Amino acid sequence: MGIETIDMLLEAICLNVKKTSATEAYITLFSRQMGIVDVYAKNIKSTKSKNAKGAIPFIYGNYFISGKGPYQMSGVDIKEYFYNLREDYESYIMASIMAKVLIKSMPIGTPNPSLFELYINSVSVFNKHKELTNKMFLYFEVRLSHELGIGIQVDTCSICKNKPVFYDSVNTEAFCSEHSPVKGKDESLYLSLISRAANSKLVKFLNLKIEKEIIDNSYKIIERHIFDHLGINIERLRMEKIDYLGG
Ligand SMILES: [Zn+2]
Repeated sequence: MGIETIDMLLEAICLNVKKTSATEAYITLFSRQMGIVDVYAKNIKSTKSKNAKGAIPFIYGNYFISGKGPYQMSGVDIKEYFYNLREDYESYIMASIMAKVLIKSMPIGTPNPSLFELYINSVSVFNKHKELTNKMFLYFEVRLSHELGIGIQVDTCSICKNKPVFYDSVNTEAFCSEHSPVKGKDESLYLSLISRAANSKLVKFLNLKIEKEIIDNSYKIIERHIFDHLGINIERLRMEKIDYLGG
């Protein structure tokens, strides 16, 4: 009698590769079926190896997995390499920050198909439309917070239903100019952009004409919110521009 093993096919994207030796690695996959999964990949040095092709950040495809935790990778049918992403450092860094945030914020083995699709769409946009990277990243942050149950509510003032001008991320409340505890600070443009990201389809949001300064200030609000609720400092990750993957 052999050891019982489970064979699975996971539609997944590789988020991280941690080499344990010259030929072996632990890879972290984000899969449609199981969410975040850690998988052991052997024989990754040989270029002919099926595993070598899958043990690269941002490879997206159907991963063959077997075993009974720890899982082993036994091959991959690649759907997309995202070649351009590797050519452009800025886009690559943004995609790797997203990967890091997903690994830190998602419980292992818990599927979230809409977050999975959001990530695949984000990486596809970075890959094909570099000029949309900033807008895409903002959309990702806003939708991520909703998917993780810490959604930012900035549609109306939490007291009177007027348009808000200030967001208190600690208490997750938005306020109009009359009820804002902080006077003279007008964040209304940024809050309305965040509200649009929360309520628009991706393509519609990406088609909006938005000045960079407005995007940058919107980042500050949503990233403060994410920091207060998840403890992840995305602003610092963006500023440091470090490649968080591989190694
Ligand atoms: Zn009010």
